[in-house]
Amino acid sequence: MIELQSICDFLQEFAPPHLAEEWDNVGLLVGDPQSEVSRLMTCLTVTPASADEAIREGADLIVTHHPLPFRPLKRLTTDNTPSRLLLQLIGAGVAVYSPHTAFDSAAGGINQRLADGLGLADIVPLIANAQDPEGLGAGRYGELTTGVLLSEIAARLKAFLKLDGLHMVGTADREVRRVAVACGAAGEFLEPACRAECDLLITGETSFHTCLEASARDIALLLPGHYASERFAVELLAEELGNQFNALTVWASREESDPLRRV
Ligand SMILES: [Zn+2]
Repeated sequence: MIELQSICDFLQEFAPPHLAEEWDNVGLLVGDPQSEVSRLMTCLTVTPASADEAIREGADLIVTHHPLPFRPLKRLTTDNTPSRLLLQLIGAGVAVYSPHTAFDSAAGGINQRLADGLGLADIVPLIANAQDPEGLGAGRYGELTTGVLLSEIAARLKAFLKLDGLHMVGTADREVRRVAVACGAAGEFLEPACRAECDLLITGETSFHTCLEASARDIALLLPGHYASERFAVELLAEELGNQFNALTVWASREESDPLRRV
């Protein structure tokens, strides 16, 4: 048994809350810090499937990338999905912690791991965080030591994320040197990626009009999907937590899946 507070302390060091975006809702969102945890599940999102799994498997704590609750709630009833899930988890005594955008931006966070996974060098944040003493911030960009074809980077990304397809804006034979990464739905990083003179922005998903804008600005896009761009990291986070707290049973949700399917 580990006190919930100790796990929160570790997560706050791992993904410091000051790195989170202003609009976000990170940290311990449900639960008593003095309670004891023996079983911990990580997931990308609390959904009916992952909430059922957590309760069925006896989790005391869910570490979910996407916050629940995210928006302020005026009532907790069964007539909307977030409240219904919260009622279910609170009823079963399951605590909820979300690192979200603090995890995106952390030194060992999602964007750093994506940039490392693609083999980028000289990796730096796309947007510096004024409050961070070590110069961390949101998104990352870095260099490929030699120019690589866009089709080759797409293949690397698919291999890293274990995907068999993704969306691409730009031509396959374009040479790429400087690459920006921003997990999730991060079309707003197009502008900083252009300012940093990147040849390519990789983000999970973005709008049609952002794709057109990228095309007009002559920057390529690779869009592996929101789920794929972040899910791998909650699996790594489960490993990290298991290594840190030997007394815990930790797993990444086996029930959640990408709601978008190719048919
Ligand atoms: Zn996300």
